[in-house]
Amino acid sequence: MSDNLSAPSYIRGIEPYKAGKPISELAREKGLQPENILKLASNENPLGAPESALQAVREAATAHNVALYPDGNAYNLKHAIAKRLGVPAEWIIVGNGSDELMGLTCEALLEPGAKSVYSQFYFSVYRIDTLACGGTPVEVPAKGFAIDLDAIAKAVTPEVRVVFLTTPNNPTGLTISQADFEAFLGKIPPSVTVVLDEAYREFVPEEDRIDSIALVKKYPNLFVTRTFSKAYGLAGLRVGFGVNSSELPELVNRIRPPFNCNTLAQAAAAGCVNDQAFLDRVYEMNRSGVKQLEDGFSSLNLEFVPTKSNFVLVHIGPKAAELNQALLDRGIIIRPCASFGLPEWIRVSVGTADQNERFLAALKELLAKLSAA
Ligand SMILES: *Cc1c(COP(=O)(O)O)cnc(C)c1O
Repeated sequence: MSDNLSAPSYIRGIEPYKAGKPISELAREKGLQPENILKLASNENPLGAPESALQAVREAATAHNVALYPDGNAYNLKHAIAKRLGVPAEWIIVGNGSDELMGLTCEALLEPGAKSVYSQFYFSVYRIDTLACGGTPVEVPAKGFAIDLDAIAKAVTPEVRVVFLTTPNNPTGLTISQADFEAFLGKIPPSVTVVLDEAYREFVPEEDRIDSIALVKKYPNLFVTRTFSKAYGLAGLRVGFGVNSSELPELVNRIRPPFNCNTLAQAAAAGCVNDQAFLDRVYEMNRSGVKQLEDGFSSLNLEFVPTKSNFVLVHIGPKAAELNQALLDRGIIIRPCASFGLPEWIRVSVGTADQNERFLAALKELLAKLSAA
């Protein structure tokens, strides 16, 4: 390939994000029927989207409405979120997924010479977004699988402008405690933005959740991000949001694409943001699915990280890549974890009881085959 285009070397140095394989792609590759493919690779909602969101989409999807640009300020959605959280609407930033907000935060705050910090076993977007701004990513070793907050605080040198933390973390499923997080915030200079990525918050048992909105009120440098992609079941529509009490929303607004969140996504999110009955169903199904998977792994003598989220990180061993291929042959997509630096592990999203059962049965059979081979 030619590299005649003038482009910054830090862009050429970026390794592209590796997403879970789409069902349509595996169907093409293997000649399978899409409806027979089981995808447990991207932590999507096995219950699908809530009716409250779909109803709002149907109402918004008129010829007239779709022909108009979206409300670039996402007034209705921001006010619905603000009311639910008990914060002013000016504190909310809406994004094309919360992904986009990570990138905009980096664009607003980083430049060559500036650094971001995150833990080992991180969501690769943090690194890509840092590099894309010419910034320098600093990866801090984890303690076992847990984020080492003391080490991260120590890594916050004067060049650091952003810290990314994820609770529960992806791919480990481990949470940060309220006490540890507050102690951490107390050590971070107010000029450094702490991004707390709570993409999986709704799956976490109440007692393991951080009271993050109360902390946003107390710490102007805290930016909490959440998403409609996971528990709310709207990954395909791309909508997430962030909350910060200080300058960040205003800075991000200067560089944000003016119509970053489309009309149907805004309508869907506003339609379901208060659908607690759906979230309760999702929570209950997920916790029983977690138990089903973890019990299954125990009975297969597989080591796993006990999860507070909607996926489980499980140790397969040196044949993890082979197992992944064999699962794909059977129309089952999981997430191999080599890109997280864990080549012997896989990450499995929690599905419905039937889906978990199908996965566990295939896993059992294939592990027996692989160990005999
Ligand atoms: C899935 C995920 C998100 C959500 O991304 P969206 O862009 O909102 O779909 C954010 N952070 C982590 C760690 C995730 O795994």
